[in-house]
Amino acid sequence: MRTRLLAANWKMNLTANEARATLATLRAQIDPEAATLARDREVMIAPAAVLIPAVAQALAGSSFLLGAQNMHFEDKGAFTGEISAPMLKPFGVTHVILGHSERRHIFGETDEVINRKVLAAIRHRLVPVLCVGETQAQHDAGSALEVVLGQLENGLDGVGGEDLRRVVVAYEPVWAIGTGRNATPEQAQTIHGAVREMLRERWGSEAADTVRIIYGGSVTPENIDSLISKPDIDGALVGGASLKADSFARIVKARAG
Ligand code: PEP
Repeated sequence: MRTRLLAANWKMNLTANEARATLATLRAQIDPEAATLARDREVMIAPAAVLIPAVAQALAGSSFLLGAQNMHFEDKGAFTGEISAPMLKPFGVTHVILGHSERRHIFGETDEVINRKVLAAIRHRLVPVLCVGETQAQHDAGSALEVVLGQLENGLDGVGGEDLRRVVVAYEPVWAIGTGRNATPEQAQTIHGAVREMLRERWGSEAADTVRIIYGGSVTPENIDSLISKPDIDGALVGGASLKADSFARIVKARAG
């Protein structure tokens, strides 16, 4: 059975004090059940880069994993404003979100750049959480699957079978991010199932069955249970609802029906 991943993407939100307060409330609700929850799930927090030291401190002694929201593919150099894997790792960062739709659409990241970041993450033994998803227009044109598989094919170019097992794929339809409009569990399962089939064709069954494919896009305490009840939905990447400790705690405690 695949270990589920419930991941918080805080985006450009919370000050250090707010982050500490949020995590204190979250830990009060999760820590007592941590051992039970850890049997079948992992929980990851991805704060803004500048908050990583404070969040690492606030998570000390817990089972929470620490993620970054982005990183550069080079280790160092003249890249003003960027951060690299060797800068993240000493703080205990284990995961990095790559290719988020906001990076693609607001900051112009291409599949090629994202692929270089994926390969850099793998080289540094960070788990890449590779985000893919179609826009509203692509969804309406019926090309969701084609777009998602294309982004995956390009994003994972050059990744070997052993490394693929550690990759997390996040299917995040752009029309569902921050809009309150989530894909139905059935819609998401259709895409997740097709993604796993594509991974199986290219990397074989063992790798494909190990990769976690998580869903993102207006995940809430109300819809998480039905989403993770689907066979190929292995968790969630949560934006807005992860900023409130109570709602993210409920999402972390998701129950498949
Ligand atoms: C996200 O940004 O990854 C996301 C899924 O956001 P939201 O949950 O707010 O839709």
